[in-house]
Amino acid sequence: MGQSAKPTRQNRTITVDFHDETTYAELLGNTKAFVEFVLAFLLALGFQLLHKASCSEGGCLTRHSHYARVRLGGLTIWRIQCTTCKAVFTVLPHFVLRYRKMRPDVARDALIATHGGLSLEWCAVICHISPMALYRVICAFGQHSSVTVLTRCGLPLPTYILADEKHSRCLTERVYLPTIVRGRVIWHLGYSASKSATAFTASYGEFQRVAQQEDPSYQVKGALTDGFDSTVSSMRALFPGVRLGSCLRHALNKLPDKLIGVSTSVRKGLRSKFHALLHRCRQRKSLRVVALGQRLRRFADCIAITVGEAHGERVRQWFRDKKAGWYTVLADPQMPAMSTVLDQAHNAIDRKLFAMKGFHHPSGSQAAFLTGLAHLYNLIPYQRRALNAGQCGVEVEGGHVPTSDWMLNLQILTSGGYQCAPAPPHH
Ligand SMILES: [Zn+2]
Repeated sequence: MGQSAKPTRQNRTITVDFHDETTYAELLGNTKAFVEFVLAFLLALGFQLLHKASCSEGGCLTRHSHYARVRLGGLTIWRIQCTTCKAVFTVLPHFVLRYRKMRPDVARDALIATHGGLSLEWCAVICHISPMALYRVICAFGQHSSVTVLTRCGLPLPTYILADEKHSRCLTERVYLPTIVRGRVIWHLGYSASKSATAFTASYGEFQRVAQQEDPSYQVKGALTDGFDSTVSSMRALFPGVRLGSCLRHALNKLPDKLIGVSTSVRKGLRSKFHALLHRCRQRKSLRVVALGQRLRRFADCIAITVGEAHGERVRQWFRDKKAGWYTVLADPQMPAMSTVLDQAHNAIDRKLFAMKGFHHPSGSQAAFLTGLAHLYNLIPYQRRALNAGQCGVEVEGGHVPTSDWMLNLQILTSGGYQCAPAPPHH
């Protein structure tokens, strides 16, 4: 069972939107017009081309580049070679998916159906494709890191994150999905067969590696976790000095477990008191940390009086162990406080991973499959009646997508030939 994405050769494909196939066919016969079209598209995107590191052309296409037409699977496409660094860029028109026979409009319908919760098998039935072909398309998009795609949308690398692991099943084994989220976007969706700190550090370390390629000085300042040991220790190992907060909603859900033997209605009542307490502390901006300490003490006393000293003492002990993490959340307004959105995403993705278990094969990559699902989660707009209807997660978080068409955005943003960093100055 492959656990990490396979390293691929440097792919310098650039997907270009030619609006329709006729325009493309007309431009094919006219090199000057073709190159001008591509240059105008690049300019509109604000992207550069990914030349080799040593190249002095600095990300631009020039008149000196070498242009060649090649036939690829019955279609004529252009290849452009930089005469300085010899990097070759393949210009892929928007109506073709790289190395796939499936057309983007077929993939679009199948992907939105799978994102909406339909099983891969049913998606394949309504779209007349094989489930394996759909699985492979998701994996192909998943070869590109979420960090690369999101920074191309202009989102800053997240300094405050939510790090959480979904416990899932794949085939018959227990597996774990270490995940990093900021607001409504997934920055990392990993796959691990082990729940050890080493395995989690390796998974989260993949996020850190790509993020530090984008910005070598990148550091996470604050992370919210549910307190799972491996998650906490991998955050500490990867981001020294990180402030670690504990999820408040998790705390709420844990309280009833501390009151074993107490009737359900009493436990429910105490849980809603605890909810009100945390909520009030969050609202009292300047005093909230001081307020929390006092209120926790009073609340534990109240539990001791209502349901007995043994329960009161158990809850006091629990507060002592956990309150540092809650203080961290309340002391820093930028810290995320709850993981609700992530939990919803996790549950949806978990169902897909489980539904896909028959497709994972020895040379397949769950990591690529999951990253592909993360792209869909970040880029497909919310439905009509949703809170942020018509916008995708990236846009809700303040990012910009290249076009109004999410499928085209997915194709463009996962093109290996683009980079969004400013070009180094010419010599
Ligand atoms: Zn070059």
